Order: sequence, then C-alpha cells, then structure tokens
Amino acid sequence: MTKVVKFGGSSLANASQFSKAGKIIRSEESRKYVVPSAPGKRNPKDTKVTDMLYRCYEMAEAGEDFMPLLKKIQDRFESIINGLNMPLSLSGEFGVIAENFRKKAGADYAASRGEYLNGRIMAEYLDYEFIDAADVICFREDGEFDAEKTDEVLSKRLEGCSCAVIPGFYGAKEDGSVKTFSRGGSDITGSIVAKAVRADIYENWTDVSGFLIADPGIIDNPEVIKVITYRELRELSYMGATVLHEDAVFPVRKEGIPINIRNTNKPEDPGTLIVESTCRQPDYTITGIAGKKGFVAVNIDKDMMNSEVGFGRKVLSAFEDHGISFEHVPSGIDTLTVFVHQEEFEGKEQQVLSAIHRYAQPDSIDLEGNLALIAVVGRGMRSTRGTAGRIFSALAHVNVNVKMIDQGSSELNIIIGVQNSDFETAIRAIYDIFVVTQI
Ligand code: ASP
Repeated sequence: MTKVVKFGGSSLANASQFSKAGKIIRSEESRKYVVPSAPGKRNPKDTKVTDMLYRCYEMAEAGEDFMPLLKKIQDRFESIINGLNMPLSLSGEFGVIAENFRKKAGADYAASRGEYLNGRIMAEYLDYEFIDAADVICFREDGEFDAEKTDEVLSKRLEGCSCAVIPGFYGAKEDGSVKTFSRGGSDITGSIVAKAVRADIYENWTDVSGFLIADPGIIDNPEVIKVITYRELRELSYMGATVLHEDAVFPVRKEGIPINIRNTNKPEDPGTLIVESTCRQPDYTITGIAGKKGFVAVNIDKDMMNSEVGFGRKVLSAFEDHGISFEHVPSGIDTLTVFVHQEEFEGKEQQVLSAIHRYAQPDSIDLEGNLALIAVVGRGMRSTRGTAGRIFSALAHVNVNVKMIDQGSSELNIIIGVQNSDFETAIRAIYDIFVVTQI
C-alpha cells in the first residue's frame, strides 16, 4: 500500500502542528511520500509565511530594506526547528535567499521558499529523502504546467526511492527559473505525486474533518460528507465550497486514485473520500449545498423567439464581445434569461444592452440584480423522485421566492436563483428538509 500525504499550511504552522503531522506519517508505513505546504496561520490574526515572502520580495524589488522582514520569516522556521529539538541550521539557506532577492529572482521564486524550507525541515525530521520540486515538477516556457513531462521525470525519480519529501506549490521551467501554481497549489503537487507513484490513495491533511454538506457560516455544525464523487465535488467547488484546490482533482482522477480529506487535529476522523464513482448509497438524497451571491438576471423578451434560428447565439455574442462569461441561460418560449456576475457586468451593462438590441432586436430587456444562485448537488437525486418538489415546498414554507430553476440533464444538480437577501434562509431550509428532518 502506498499513500501520498499532503499537509496544508495550518497543519505545519508551528512545532506542535509539525509533530502532529510527524506522528500521523509515522503511524503508517504506507505514508511514504510527503508533500508539505509552507507554514500557515498559527491563529486567525497571524500571517502565512507565503504572504510574508511575497511582501518581502516586493520590498526587495522596490529597493527597500527587506532584511528585517526576511529575519522574521527565518525566525518562524527557526521556532519550528527549535520546538522540535532539531540540530538543523537554515542560516546558509537564508543567505542564498537574500542574495537571490537582491538579484531579483522573481516573486514565484520568493513564494516557493516557504514550501522549500518546510520540505527541508520535514525531510530531516522524518529522515526521508528531500527532493526539490524544481527538479521534478516541470513547467513549459509559457508558464503552463507540463503534465506529461512531469509524470515521466517524477515517476523515474521516485522509482527507487522508498520515502521522500517533495515540497508543494512550485516547480521550474526548462531554464531553471522557479514557477508556482496558483495559491493553494500544494494540493496540486500532492495529486501529481500520487499519480506518479500510482498511489493507492492521496491523503490531503488539513484543519477540517472533510467537506461539509453546507457552509458552517450558515448552518451550525453541518455534517461531513463521507463520500463524494469528483463530479459532485466540481459542482460544489465551483459554487464556492473550497477545501481543495480546483485543479487538484485532475491528475488523480485520470488514474482512479481516491482523495481522502483528513483533519490533522482529529486524525481519528475518517474525513471525506473523493472518488470517481461509488455504489455506496449516500446518507441523504443530496450530497451538498453551496451557493454564491451577486448575480444579475438579464431577461430578454421577443415574441416568436422560439422559432428564430440563431437567437441565442446572437444574444450570447453580445456578452462575449464584452468579455463577460455567463453562468446559466434558462429560457421560455418568448424569453431568454442570461445570468451573469454582477461585478463583472455592472461597468459594461449599457454597452451589452445596446449590443443585444443591435444583434438580436428583442422586444424588451429587463435587468434584475442582487440575485444569488444555490446549487443542490447529489448523485442520489438521480434515483429519487420528488427532489425538486421537496426543495420548492421547503422554500415556499419559509417564504422564499424562487426566481430561477435549472436542472442539468445529468440530474446531478439543481440550481436555484433567489434574492441575495433570501440566500441564507433558503440554504437553511434546504439543509433542514434533506438532512435534519429528512421528510
Ligand atoms: N503556500 C501556498 C499558499 O499559501 C501554497 C499552498 O499552501 O498550497 O497559497
């Protein structure tokens, strides 16, 4: 059995968190490949080391004295080393970093040092081999991640290596310059390593016991999702539920490797298992609820629209021409509604409206802002009758007016549009009916 284990920033924020991670790794021989993040926040007011590094590099670029801040960063690492009673010294490393900052090695290089140094400490702490991600995670010259080359290089490098630490978040281009993924990208590295070693499972250790059925900011103590499919996860993440980096599923998904989200502070919790498919019946009809506020509905009316070939294309090209992406397009016989992000749309609304008039000659256009979209997601809905009915009666019961309904033909999700001000009430009502009372 081979496991790849990734530890997030809060799991490695200080010496006591580090030793929890160490205990978890040592408790199972199968945990052979470790991907650490940089030290994260020790408390809600704290600053992540990655943010400190970005700031420090900005100062270096602006020709300001960055050394006091770099010293603070060094102190954070040293307090971990000292707290773990390790004989390691990072002064040489920090000398090189300061030198490279002066040479303007780039913001990506700067940010990557958090993972690099945490990786060095972790490797020493566990007595595992350290593999610099710059040697095995490959980016193309245009900055795109090179999945094929990485898989080749990395699997070859790890072939004869029984235990290793590979820092998350970064790699390098062919010219050797460091390149990072987007923020939170250590999740992606973990997935890439899992694919390269054909791991049985990719464990992603964080500070929550898995994906929650709904946002804990809205529902008190929501239940944890035990098993979720990649597709369900994608629907929920898109709608704002974030535990894992969006791109982290792609490398393992192709290999059928499950991801297990686990809690470093509660290692006894089973967490959430993310799989390609499962015949295990979900506990509830729905797997999860997520949503976002801040949408505008652009309602377009035109008599006989239904028989006009190309009407939809003309309308949508007005949005495309102004660089606005649309979210959903529910339609009726003589109406078509386009849901867009209010922030993106507001500044360009009049130009878009006149473009729609020019391209599609509608009878009228009406805008309605301050709307929220809620996604109710679940593989269990496919085999259950009456899901939509239950949602709408629950919403009617709490006096929430439904502005829009959109169900994909996969029957995996139902999207509901409500007013921003009804957002929380609607989510509570849906959670209630499916999870609490289960009527
Ligand atoms: N340390 C990086 C960040 O803060 C990457 C990661 O933690 O995954 O975004």
